[in-house]
Amino acid sequence: AATPSDSPTIFDKIINKEIPSTVVYEDDKVLAFRDISPQAPTHILIIPKSRDGLTGLSKAEERHTEILGRLLYTAKLVAKQEGLDDGYRIVINDGPSGCQSVYHIHVHLLGGRQMNWPPG
Ligand code: 5GP
Repeated sequence: AATPSDSPTIFDKIINKEIPSTVVYEDDKVLAFRDISPQAPTHILIIPKSRDGLTGLSKAEERHTEILGRLLYTAKLVAKQEGLDDGYRIVINDGPSGCQSVYHIHVHLLGGRQMNWPPG
């Protein structure tokens, strides 16, 4: 049976351009767009166009290693494009304790201000 985390998410509608988003990078495999509720001056989400079971990082399998690397590499490209030359923060929230709210894996790219550590 399908669990809530297996159901389509809002990100499918963003990928299919059924709801608008501000896309900052796109290729055949990944999409990067601005977070609707930015937590920093630059807050971008990088997602695979095909979820392929990757609801979250905790569901990663060997077949996902290429797309996982591509998500991180895209984060680097977008950070450069955004002019985050002094540094930035990459986040992947996983599951309830990680404050994940959308079950389609995504990398957060945050920057444009001093990021804090530990994040809390
Ligand atoms: P999570 O909490 O799962 O790590 O991150 C999900 C992110 O998706 C949140 O930062 C939230 O603001 C963002 N988000 C949720 N719905 C939408 C939407 O419809 N459009 C955009 N651009 N971002 C969204």
